[in-house]
Amino acid sequence: MSDPTPALADPVIDTAAPDADDLALLARVQAPEGQGREIPDAATREVIGRAPVHTVADVDAAVARARAAQPAWDARGHADRSALLMAAADRVEANAEALARLLSREQGKPLDGPNARFEVGACAAWLRATAATALAPEVVVDDGETYAELHYRALGVVAAVGPWNWPMMITVWQIAPALRMGNTVVVKPSEYTPLSVLALVEVLNDALPDDVLIAVSGDRDAGARLVAHPDVDKVMFTGSTATGRKIIESSAGNLARLTLELGGNDAGIVLSDVDPAGIAEGLFWGAFINTGQTCAALKRLYVHDDVYDAVVDALAEYAAHVPMGRGLDAGTVLGPLQNAQQFDIVDRLVADAKASGARVVLGGGPASDLGELFYRTTIVADITDGVALVDEEQFGPVLPVIRYRDVEQAIASANGLDVGLGASVWSSDRDAAREVAARLQAGTVWINSHGGVHPLVPFGGVKGSGYGLEFGVEGLKALGVPQVING
Ligand code: NAD
Repeated sequence: MSDPTPALADPVIDTAAPDADDLALLARVQAPEGQGREIPDAATREVIGRAPVHTVADVDAAVARARAAQPAWDARGHADRSALLMAAADRVEANAEALARLLSREQGKPLDGPNARFEVGACAAWLRATAATALAPEVVVDDGETYAELHYRALGVVAAVGPWNWPMMITVWQIAPALRMGNTVVVKPSEYTPLSVLALVEVLNDALPDDVLIAVSGDRDAGARLVAHPDVDKVMFTGSTATGRKIIESSAGNLARLTLELGGNDAGIVLSDVDPAGIAEGLFWGAFINTGQTCAALKRLYVHDDVYDAVVDALAEYAAHVPMGRGLDAGTVLGPLQNAQQFDIVDRLVADAKASGARVVLGGGPASDLGELFYRTTIVADITDGVALVDEEQFGPVLPVIRYRDVEQAIASANGLDVGLGASVWSSDRDAAREVAARLQAGTVWINSHGGVHPLVPFGGVKGSGYGLEFGVEGLKALGVPQVING
């Protein structure tokens, strides 16, 4: 590449002004004047609102309310709960633009592309799909002597604790199956993106009975109390592996069942028979969706020597033309890092990769002209396993591309880390790709794409990426307690 500077969008400042709907939604959820924690716009760092900081006592009160509301919610039955989840999806759609604008400002993701409007749309889609999915009792033995059925009953109170990268969508992934199965839910959003989740819950609650879905926003203390609460029956957790371990420890106290969707460092393997220009767009979005801040994004790419230079060039050529900028500015599809902590991780990993002798093909540093937390779309070539940018989860707009000569070596590298959320294989020969896929230690392996999810296709990790499945019938089972009726 002659010019290693990716495209930046032209700032159009006045689009960032909140309109009446934005302000009305914020007013419903934010803390009173002078109280709560100020939440910045991820792109401009201007304060956009104040999140309530709930205490441990508030968490206890929320769990008590959810516990009291659970029997009546369960007693409504599946048809009634499904209808209410459909009505909740209607409310999301009716408030979609205000929700998307708040999400865009707080999280940083642009309105367009696979970003804020897409995320709000996914919330409605997941609610509807979950409402429409049935979990019928299963006859496990019927041999004339024994008759046994497997049913799934409500668990009770579910705690939902989520991250800051897809805060609304992941909240819906956690709460929709929980509610569908007759549980009540207490949600604790990330302290980085509380307003988006509080606003989403507020809108959902326009359609739901009181106390079926309660949000508490607070610090890690509030999260720690919620997951350890003796009256919580199940924890749906999405976040880092380190926090996941703490939640496993605390579940020893309340015996809460767990679904843990943890960190990943997804590998992609490009076989020698690909058309480099043909896969560039798919590789790009697999890696850079949500500016790389996605659990199941492509985070290290292994490319066969025969096509290595052509793939790196095609990817960089595509990436150079994808505009980055403030989320509310038209034409932007990549945004800032959401927070300074994540920015520092990305900056450190790229600096370390450069010091190791790796070659920066595109980007390679902050985009300070756009704002404090912007980092240029970065592609790093001639890098190897053992460099931190390959071995650690970058969670930002940076992709290391590693050369391999023998596919056995690529498979060993892909499986060589202690995480296994997703992986992908890229080839014009589907059978060859599926053979490699079967040998990868990952909860999902995509062929010729990376990271796509579907409300009816189970999703979950292996190794340090956690355990349990979300979505579809398997996802409903995870929010129920099995009961055998024998006789
Ligand atoms: P994090 O673990 O720091 O925080 C996640 C949530 O846990 C936050 O709400 C936080 O307040 C809460 N928390 C922190 N300490 C707690 C404790 N001791 N007890 C209970 N709750 C506690 O993660 P993050 O930085 O917000 O998210 C980024 C990470 O999440 C990345 O590693 C990413 O890969 C992962 N992630 C995974 C998935 C997936 O589906 N597997 C999806 C999105 C993100």
